[in-house]
Amino acid sequence: MAEGPASEVAILPESMIETRALRKEYGPGVALAGVDLRVSRGEIVGLIGPNGAGKSTLLKVLATLLEPTAGSARVAGFDVVRESMEVKRRIGYAPESGFLFDALTGREFLDMAVDLKKLDRKEADAQMLDLSEALNIRDVLKQPISAYSKGMRKKVSIVSALIGNPQVLILDEPVDGLYRSSVAALIDVLRGLREQMTTTILCSHMIEVVEATCDRICTLSGGVLAEGQIEASASE
Ligand code: ATP
Repeated sequence: MAEGPASEVAILPESMIETRALRKEYGPGVALAGVDLRVSRGEIVGLIGPNGAGKSTLLKVLATLLEPTAGSARVAGFDVVRESMEVKRRIGYAPESGFLFDALTGREFLDMAVDLKKLDRKEADAQMLDLSEALNIRDVLKQPISAYSKGMRKKVSIVSALIGNPQVLILDEPVDGLYRSSVAALIDVLRGLREQMTTTILCSHMIEVVEATCDRICTLSGGVLAEGQIEASASE
């Protein structure tokens, strides 16, 4: 739907996310201590780990919102620092607590996302309605965001990330605040996107959701990434 990236499918790299020795320091604090991660096209990878492990930091670096201190990260084949605009055009990012504009209605906020992504209006409208219906927020889109519950905000944020079928989805605690029927609906949506070879990385403290959704689980602990579910971390 977006100009340019949509026609690239045949030439997309096999690794849609690739980090090498990725390090992020906040002053003296080390949030990422040299992370090596590869996510293949069409894969859904779940990040788990204790509070403060570096999950949101890693997702923000991939979403080009934070610059790494050292090492490198490529998303959809582009470097997150040197080619950040190319990365931005190909990703959908839903932050842990969405930055939504309270003065807008949900519909106005989503329209703004459609404009920013330069999507075809008719196709985007149809997709917006489908996603809003699936996540059960269609009826509230006319209301101001200031009147939304936490779960409604989260859903609008997720729809804004999904709209336009980005090549890579980066979802920070996407089910936080969602009732279980909406969690099930979101899992269905993500599985459907995987069929279309969308690549997804998400983090969540809800291990059962991660297990139900993801092809692969990685654990971050103290800024160090390990493949699989490490019991001590996952149980926190
Ligand atoms: P949670 O599960 O609690 O959301 P997380 O795994 O997402 O945690 P991060 O938010 O990435 O962890 O934080 C990793 C580390 O970096 C923590 O020690 C945190 O205190 C620190 N940190 C995060 N953001 C900042 C910041 N803006 N300034 C300084 N330190 C930060």
